[in-house]
Amino acid sequence: MTKEEIKDLYSMKDILERYGLPKPNRAGFICCPFHKEKTASMKIYKDSYNCFACGANGDVFSFVQSMENVDFKTAFKMLGGTYADKSDYQHKLFQYRCQKRKETKKIREEKRKALHAEVLEEIKLMKAIKLLSSVFSDDWCYAVNKIEYDIYLLGYLMTEKG
Ligand SMILES: [Zn+2]
Repeated sequence: MTKEEIKDLYSMKDILERYGLPKPNRAGFICCPFHKEKTASMKIYKDSYNCFACGANGDVFSFVQSMENVDFKTAFKMLGGTYADKSDYQHKLFQYRCQKRKETKKIREEKRKALHAEVLEEIKLMKAIKLLSSVFSDDWCYAVNKIEYDIYLLGYLMTEKG
């Protein structure tokens, strides 16, 4: 839970109950647990308190802090607070990105291999057409141009990094 979630969940009354303290009187006062007194001088609000005698005041967290004599972090955790573990989150994000990059690389590599095989296949075909066609015929010219283009494409595919 975050600080705000805890504040939404627990009212000051819940916190008083947690420590077995009496309910506020009609006027909303209790005897201050932080100093000795016979008359109730601590006003309890929905999410805060203020002692008109000793000046103790704050919210649910500082109340727990004072009752337990602990720092905010401890009080926060006692009330169910959790800190998003940043390093853990960043680690997971890093892992996710690495995984994505690997997948993308693999897909590109597979595409490149498939295209490479296709081009090789086409060159074979074009060479066969070239052999079977009379020199400078349309088919022959087409095959020559295609082979030239395919060789260029092969070179590109070979140098392209996956
Ligand atoms: Zn007080």
